Amino acid sequence: MAEKGNISINTENIFPIIKKFLYSDHEIFLRELVSNAVDATQKLKKLAIFGEFDGEMGETKIKVSINKEAKTITISDSGIGMTEEEVKKYINQIAFSGAKEFLEKYKDKAEGNEVIGQFGLGFYSAFMVADQVELVTKSFKDEPAVRWICDGSTSYEITAAERETRGTDVILHVNEDSLEFLENHKIGGILNKYAKFLPVEIEFEEKVINNPNPIWTKSPADLTDADYLAFYSELYPMSEAPLFWIHLNVDYPFNLTGVLYFPKMKNDFQLHREKIQLYSRQVFITDEVKDVVPEYLMMLHGVIDSPDIPLNVSRSYLQADGNVKKINGYISKKVADKLIDLFKEDRPSYEQKWESIGTFVKYGLISDEKFFDRAKEIILLKNIENKLFTTEEYRAQIETLQVDKDKKLVHLYTTDAQKQDAFVQSAKRRGYDILLLNEVLDSHFINTLEMKLENTTFKRVDADGIEKLIEKDLKLESVLSEADSASVKAIFEGVIANSSHSISIEAMPADEMPVSVTFTEFMRRFQEMNKISGQNMMFGEMPVSYQIVVNGNSPIINNLLKQTDTEVQKATAKQLFDLALLSQGLLSGSELTAFIQQSISKI
Ligand code: ADP
Repeated sequence: MAEKGNISINTENIFPIIKKFLYSDHEIFLRELVSNAVDATQKLKKLAIFGEFDGEMGETKIKVSINKEAKTITISDSGIGMTEEEVKKYINQIAFSGAKEFLEKYKDKAEGNEVIGQFGLGFYSAFMVADQVELVTKSFKDEPAVRWICDGSTSYEITAAERETRGTDVILHVNEDSLEFLENHKIGGILNKYAKFLPVEIEFEEKVINNPNPIWTKSPADLTDADYLAFYSELYPMSEAPLFWIHLNVDYPFNLTGVLYFPKMKNDFQLHREKIQLYSRQVFITDEVKDVVPEYLMMLHGVIDSPDIPLNVSRSYLQADGNVKKINGYISKKVADKLIDLFKEDRPSYEQKWESIGTFVKYGLISDEKFFDRAKEIILLKNIENKLFTTEEYRAQIETLQVDKDKKLVHLYTTDAQKQDAFVQSAKRRGYDILLLNEVLDSHFINTLEMKLENTTFKRVDADGIEKLIEKDLKLESVLSEADSASVKAIFEGVIANSSHSISIEAMPADEMPVSVTFTEFMRRFQEMNKISGQNMMFGEMPVSYQIVVNGNSPIINNLLKQTDTEVQKATAKQLFDLALLSQGLLSGSELTAFIQQSISKI
């Protein structure tokens, strides 16, 4: 006898609304139905453990199949199944009330679409792609099988069914708008995305498509390096092996497991973003882990699985969620601990990996004070001889020589040893050590170090002139009188057209460049930092202004001063200035052509 009935909710048009809301995310129906099948199978296994089910467990695979002629998709499990009473209770009442509750909460919200992207509507999401849903189920209890059919209105029909074996088939009669889901590659793709690590075997097209025991569910003690590496390849086929990894495992105050990998970093670190996958009990949820993982660790790869992350709520709610905050803090601490261990246990290996690790560490130091405090001892600085120092070690290295008049330690650096060679050479001659800071984040990084470390200043080798930076070099006497200095300055002012450049006469060793061009550290770094944070659009490119430093002790400058032919004097001054620009790679276009022609004419 067929029983017909009405589902006891008021909203008559529940499905059109659900369909509308879920428009962008139709594919999650499969995630929901396969998850239900997994739950049903695992419940049976639990009952067996508790001795409440003593029948044959038999085959427990979940099968997903497509029938193109009949236009159906079927999800079959051999789980606990449902009795008629249970169908009425769980499907008609509970599942419907879930859908109803959702609607009441969100139907007036403009952001409904975004909210629902994460919202598990459970069984009823089937109606996003089907205009009729059929359920054939037989409980593990010795009761007859039942068939339930619903066409997406609030009325349903329950009849007796001829199913011999325990379990449930959910048969979706796919609607005209969703025929794409009858394509094998489409369903295969969705399963691969959401079901890849579900804990029960899932069969599609006669193949098991998942790995039911991914390593994050195992104990680290039972795993070898090879296991971690193999899992990495499973997640990111064809990728270069990671540097190392962290196995996460917490049960209190929240539940979280996972494995995070440190990839080998390439220069463009945007490439590495959004590679972490978030799971909830092995069901894939999203690869948008923003808020769960600290921003600077977004470049890590791997998997986080937590049933405690609220997945069915909006982003702003996620940010405010206490668990999410704790998880974020926990991950940050775990990463810092791992790096510190690595540093302490095997410094050479840490150094070897520094190029990649450094990017995380620098990003972390810049963006998270707590991380700075945890990780400050494991920051490394590299000099142009490729030697790595902790900040403490480096301070000891430069302590005696590189001190400015305010007793700050001057950390000299180059961003490009080739381009800045003249300055690198001049600093080396003075016995100074030079750091190599040529990474995207370095201008922000050194800014942070200047703020956090005592008496620390960073100056690029071509900044402001070493002779003005370091106390020792200030002591050199000038051979020019004040009047002569003024005359030299006037000569150069006469040939350098651009008034935004400043000219100064300094006492430097006689054998150094007679004229050099330097930049203000502050302005240059400010511009660089804006470039990285994309703020150039707001400020625009600032005009480049050079500081032109004339070496008052150079014999060439002395000769220039004595020159009586003012035309020759001007031409020489111009040539010296051009040579300074040339050595910095700043001479180009028509000015370069003119300079070359000038030089040729003198041969
Ligand atoms: P949820 O899974 O979040 O409880 P659903 O709407 O997906 O909500 O399902 C409602 C209920 O229907 C489930 O809690 C379960 O009791 C029952 N159910 C759904 N699918 C199955 C299935 N394949 N086998 C057995 N019971 C099921």
